[in-house]
Amino acid sequence: MNISSESGMIFNIQKFSLNDGPGIRTVVFLKGCPLKCRWCANPESQYPKLQILWDREACVGCNTCVSGCPSGAITNVDGNIRIQNAQCQGCHTCIAHCPEDALNAEGESKTVDEILKICLQDKDFYEESGGGVTLSGGEALMQPQFSTALLRTLKEHGIHTAMETTGFASPEVFQSVLPYLDLLLFDMKHWDEKKHKEGTGVSNTQILENLKQAIADGKDVLPRLPVIPDYNHSPADAEGFVRRLKEVGANRIQLLPFHQFGEKKYDMLHKTYAYADVPALHEEDLKEFQQVFLNHGIDTFF
Ligand code: SF4
Ligand code: SF4
Repeated sequence: MNISSESGMIFNIQKFSLNDGPGIRTVVFLKGCPLKCRWCANPESQYPKLQILWDREACVGCNTCVSGCPSGAITNVDGNIRIQNAQCQGCHTCIAHCPEDALNAEGESKTVDEILKICLQDKDFYEESGGGVTLSGGEALMQPQFSTALLRTLKEHGIHTAMETTGFASPEVFQSVLPYLDLLLFDMKHWDEKKHKEGTGVSNTQILENLKQAIADGKDVLPRLPVIPDYNHSPADAEGFVRRLKEVGANRIQLLPFHQFGEKKYDMLHKTYAYADVPALHEEDLKEFQQVFLNHGIDTFF
């Protein structure tokens, strides 16, 4: 059995997850995403390297971080602590010396072997519940060698593997991970290319090609739709998604109603959250939307 020293940039490992594939799962969150979805619930996942986040509510403005950063990456602009990602060397000096715990790091390099050891701690739970390990993000396909090595190693240990993906990758990269995946949780953001670009920054053409190919290859694929108010949640949008699902050969979809879980992180990253005042959606709000899919024979659930 191979021991892989391949390393990747991750920002979280969440144990005992029940929402990211079947059974009890460990979810490994990889950093870096080629999409910039306006509603992203994990904005700290988008930048592919380590980032220092600043909590304005905890900060007392002592400037210890500014004077102590060996890279000169931190400035205080009118009471706002700004960290230049490109200059940061990831030494954690600022975090260690902040008297108020107002700084924390998102992103850590870990080897496949290190992650495997963590995942194996819960192997009994996976086996009893039909669970396993899910790669999430960010976008795991942004780190294809690491993702492939990790998935291959997990399979060598008899662990069920899944990946939550935007599907945005070259066909070569996409195909390289498929042999090591038992389940693909494949996001569809918008059926229309122009609207897809507006909401995410990228075209959906290659995404749909990859989705179609994975289904044609006989992979277990669950398309998932984050339903976003005033973006993709009209009955006409549902009809558009039905057309796309039929084109790619899918006959089921999971609806993920919009929520605001990522709001605080936007402030810590000095980013504007476009959905700050938009109420969350709930299952009962989407019955009409769901019915459009059901009317076309698409198995549609939450
Ligand atoms: S981690 Fe180190 S280099 Fe980066 S901002 Fe903090 S003190 Fe500066
Ligand atoms: S060291 Fe901590 S409390 Fe002091 S200015 Fe920096 S972030 Fe704020």
